[in-house]
Amino acid sequence: MDFDFSPEQVTFADEVERFLDEHDDPEVFDLTRENMAQIVDTPKRRQFMRQVGERGWLGITWPKEWGGQDSDGVYEYLLNEALARRGGPQIGKGVGIIGKTILRHGSEKLKQEFLPKILRNEVEFAVGYSEPDAGSDAASMKLKATRDGDGWRLNGQKTWTTSAHFAEWYWVGARTDPESKHQGITLFLVPLDHPGITINPIWTMGDERTNDVFFDDVWVSDDYVVGEVNRGFQYISEALDLERFTMFTFSPIQQRLDLLCEYVRTSSVDAAPLKDDAVVRQRVAQLVTQGEVARVLGLRFVAASMKGGAPPTTQASEYKLYATELSKRLANASMDIAGPGSQLRVGTEDAPMKGRAESTYRYTVIDTIGGGTSEVQKNIISRRKLGLPKNF
Ligand SMILES: Cc1cc2nc3c(=O)[nH]c(=O)nc-3n(C[C@H](O)[C@H](O)[C@H](O)COP(=O)(O)OP(=O)(O)OC[C@H]3O[C@@H](n4cnc5c(N)ncnc54)[C@H](O)[C@@H]3O)c2cc1C
Repeated sequence: MDFDFSPEQVTFADEVERFLDEHDDPEVFDLTRENMAQIVDTPKRRQFMRQVGERGWLGITWPKEWGGQDSDGVYEYLLNEALARRGGPQIGKGVGIIGKTILRHGSEKLKQEFLPKILRNEVEFAVGYSEPDAGSDAASMKLKATRDGDGWRLNGQKTWTTSAHFAEWYWVGARTDPESKHQGITLFLVPLDHPGITINPIWTMGDERTNDVFFDDVWVSDDYVVGEVNRGFQYISEALDLERFTMFTFSPIQQRLDLLCEYVRTSSVDAAPLKDDAVVRQRVAQLVTQGEVARVLGLRFVAASMKGGAPPTTQASEYKLYATELSKRLANASMDIAGPGSQLRVGTEDAPMKGRAESTYRYTVIDTIGGGTSEVQKNIISRRKLGLPKNF
């Protein structure tokens, strides 16, 4: 099996690096923001993403008839990993999740309205599945949609909606059939500036903002139903598979592994070089090996998704579970190995590993929750891959 990239892919990766060098800007690239925090939330980041769009690099895998390049997912992977390596915003939600789902299931109207805007990065989305009583079990969502004329009236609450405070559109699931669980959910697109919507902040331990969102008699036309009524949970499940891969990149893990190795190579504790400590050496060697496993699981998802059809569920869960748990183990090890100094924050002069240990120690926990917890990924793998019975 050949894990190397082809000459064309290497040329593309080099081109991306040159582009990123030319657009280097500390207000766009921030290495303290990883994965779920790598969002397009400021005017500068929006402007930068528009330039990525002008290069034709958004929608690389989309069909040509919708402005894409009909190209392999590996190019999208290379672009996203390069962006993540510099702490830049990722192509995540618009192109990777909402755009791809609209392409597969959306009406002609939704395609016409949203796909060109996504490719020009003129629109940001928030994703609303979770509710106070429906997180891991998202199919228990209660946000109520009742039939009203040529549309639906939405009432209720969502929680943990990242991006709702700056996005224009809400990709939101609601209950259209109270008699059915999985077959009673419909997916809507709702403008977030609707007067019936209230957005309240929730601040996370990773310094990023997410939100509670309240719906008070929000009317949505049938035109903004995604796909078929009551089939929303199927689309949400597919979109979650995409999210589990596109929102959780590997390159920041590799970077932090390199920082840890360099720290161990060059630092001492009580005049004893860390590189001579057998326990530290063993721990670092294990992490580096696990890093290779995560990298290859990511490539396996890319290869499986290039076969077309629905995104590969098991591979998405295996990658998300392994990469985010490794990321957390790495943050823990970095804190342990660097000792008290590891608590110094990013921006502090001489902080071990540039202060990344402290920030990632707090943030990597969140990555094992958002997009479905590690336990949920294990349940998916148990059922879909191993054929074990459902546990709830
Ligand atoms: C920073 C952040 C951003 C987020 N952004 C978004 C967003 O933009 N949009 C959105 O819709 N959601 C978002 N989420 C929500 C996220 O998807 C949920 O938090 C997650 O799915 C878990 O749901 P919950 O918090 O209700 O926990 P629960 O489902 O209540 O789970 C609590 C614990 O029980 C475990 N558990 C639950 N069920 C099982 C089971 N069957 N088997 C074994 N263990 C189980 C879980 O693993 C967890 O450890 C975000 C969350 C965070 C933390």
